[in-house]
Order: sequence, then C-alpha cells, then structure tokens
Amino acid sequence: MIFESILILTMTLTSINSVAIGPEPTIDGESARHYDSRYSIFDKPYTVDFKYHNYDKMSRFLRATSLRFQNLTALYSIGKSVKGRDLWVMVVSSSPYEHMIGKPDVKYVANIHGNEAVGRELMLHLIHLLVTKYGSDAYITWLLDNTRIHILPSMNPDGFEVSKEGFCEGSQGRYNARGFDLNRNFPDYFKQNNKKTQPETEAVREWVSKIQFVLSGSLHGGALVASYPFDNTPNSRLCRSAPLCAMFQSYSSAPSISPDDDVFRHLSLTYSQNHGSMHRGEACSPSQRGFKNGITNGAEWYPLTGGMQDFNYVWNGCMEITFELSCCKYPPAEDLKHYWEENRVSLIKFLAEAHRGVHGFVVDENGNPIERASVKVKGRDVSFLTTKYGEFWRILMPGIYKLEVYANGYAPRDIEFMVIEQHPTLLNVTLHSTKVL
Ligand SMILES: [Zn+2]
Repeated sequence: MIFESILILTMTLTSINSVAIGPEPTIDGESARHYDSRYSIFDKPYTVDFKYHNYDKMSRFLRATSLRFQNLTALYSIGKSVKGRDLWVMVVSSSPYEHMIGKPDVKYVANIHGNEAVGRELMLHLIHLLVTKYGSDAYITWLLDNTRIHILPSMNPDGFEVSKEGFCEGSQGRYNARGFDLNRNFPDYFKQNNKKTQPETEAVREWVSKIQFVLSGSLHGGALVASYPFDNTPNSRLCRSAPLCAMFQSYSSAPSISPDDDVFRHLSLTYSQNHGSMHRGEACSPSQRGFKNGITNGAEWYPLTGGMQDFNYVWNGCMEITFELSCCKYPPAEDLKHYWEENRVSLIKFLAEAHRGVHGFVVDENGNPIERASVKVKGRDVSFLTTKYGEFWRILMPGIYKLEVYANGYAPRDIEFMVIEQHPTLLNVTLHSTKVL
C-alpha cells in the first residue's frame, strides 16, 4: 500500500533520506523534484481508491495529504471517540492554518451514523479533488482562495469499524461505542434533550463554538434527499429508534418552518439539482416516500430531537443541511465511483453558497471590531453573533432587507441593504457607544 509506506517513511528522517538516495536520478525537471528529500517519498502518484478506508487507512490518507499539500491543507483532531480514535478534520484552503478575515469558514461532517459509509468516502475524494485541481481549475482555485473548507470525514469512527460493507439497512454500527445515536445527542431548540452527551458530540459542539462556520453539510445514507431545518417541531410525534423512524418515512408530518425557509430551500435545491439523480425525488423503495425535487423539510419527513442541523442553525449561526446520499447505507465498494460522480459537482457548488447574501463587520466609532454583537435580519427571528474580528455573514436570497444590530453599551442600529444574485453585499456597521464620557 502506498499510504502505508508513506506513514512508515515519515516516522524518521533517516528513513526518508535513505529512500531519497535510492537509484541515481538524472537532474532534470521532474527527477530533480523527486531527488529533493522533501518530495522523494511522493514518487508514486497521489491517488485515492474507490475502496472503503477503515480508520487506519483513512488516517494514513489524511496524513499523506497534509504532508504532500502543506500549503493547501491542515490536519487537526477535534477530540477522540469513545474508543480513543481521533476525530480528524482536514482544512482545505489557500490559508489552511489561519482564518481569512472577512472570508467564510464552511464544513462537511460525514459518517455521523457509523454504518452510513458513502459520505465518509466521498469526503476523501473531495479532499483529493480540491488539492489536485487548485491552480488548474479556476472555480476550485477561487473557492479555496476565498473559503476555508473543514472536512470531518467521520464523526463516528467506532461505529464504522463495526459496520459491514453491503449492509444497506439496519443499525449495526449506526450508534457510537456506547450505543448512542449521535444525531439525537445535541441540545434541542424545541424539546429538552436528556440524553447523556457523548464525547463525539462534545467534540463537535466545542469545535463549532470556536470557529464561526457559515454553511455546513451533514452527510448521511439510507435515503436520497436534502433535508433542511427544522428537524424538530413543538408538537412532534417522536420516533426514538431507527426502525420506528423508517416507518414514519412513509407518512408525512407537518413541516416545521424556520425563519430562513427560503434560503434553506435554495441551499437544498442547489445540492439536489446539481446531483446526478437526487432532483428526481424518486423513492428508494415502494415502502418509502419520494421527495419533490429531492428536498424536504426535516420535520415534515419525520421529526427528531437532538439533531445536529437545528443545533448548528439555532445556536451557532451556521446554516446546515442534511444530505442523504444513497438508498443503501453501506453499498459495495464497486458502487463508490458512481456515487462520487453523482455528488462531485453538488459538493462543490453547495459550499460556494457561503458567498451569497450579506457579510461585513461591526465596529465602534474608532473602527475597532465589536465581538458578539447580535446581528438579525428583520423578520427572521434568529440572531447571529459577530466574531472577534467583528465579522458577520447571513446567507440571503436577492431582495431588500433590514439589518438590526445590537451590542451591549452601544446604541442599536437598523440598516437597510440590498442583496443581489451575482455577488455578496458588503455591509460595514458602525455602532456608537452610549457611555457618557
Ligand atoms: Zn444517518
């Protein structure tokens, strides 16, 4: 295995050098690159197979990527699973180590349910695509120059290890090692969630509290649909177990409409319409329902308590959509190429939507950023907070809006602004101190 040898070779500098010496290279362009000890371990082409990567193989691929693309990637762990496996996140951006002030951070989280395996593999292929096309593909170059993309290929590595390839249904591997469903383990806006917080959930909560993500995709399997907030509703018929939830899939509950319903529908459509088949909205089986244009309100499909997407939206100012990518939860590896082809464009186009709407800075009279100012679009009763640089982002459809900005010790301000289709509106807001000097 290429990745195995890379890992071993990176352990000690001596072993790297000994490989570098190897057969005498001729010093022309390509050979010279290989002769350089830093590049010598990368003689073989950088590829990612259409095969499933268990934890060790996935970790090797991520490490190999971060070594090879040091200016485009950063690999970090947000914590550990119950069994001590790292929850790896790979950043892909032209500024992998530092937030670019005024530019959005976005994320994908896959394999939350350990037996929903397609998203996990697609994330490795997405990483591979982004790093290899930077500099040659104009769209990807623009995206990485203007966005930091954080990818968590597996939020439930323990569950994946006990899942079985070819098992399209069932719940073996769905839960974490303590038997908790991680997509029912977040604080809930509508109901009290009494489930004991799990380390994987805790790690994600801490992660999203430290980085202001603007847009996010949560990747699942077992259906083919883009599902948007709210997932829960004040008067939900609860389905507590997977079989019960599956039963509800054939029924339709009442939608639970969020203040940003138009935006969520647009974001979901961006994914489904760029997808090879999702937009057709066909049911996975006669016992399941289909979805018009391949999108649905989460609660309308079936309500759930403690889901990750409502949590991202309500408490973290991050618009998250749940993508169900495959009717079969863990299809045979030979199908992976097909899933990649179906999702490749969607995965990229969706992230670019972070560059829609309004963004800017909230500052005081002296131009200093105001952190944790509350920013709200009138009529959309969800407030987002500014970052330590005073930044804010709101993804909005074209139209005329009013921004309501409020911060302790400052006079509140309302500002009218316009959003157009072609590019985001930049809006800087100065607040005046109410303190008497
Ligand atoms: Zn799932």
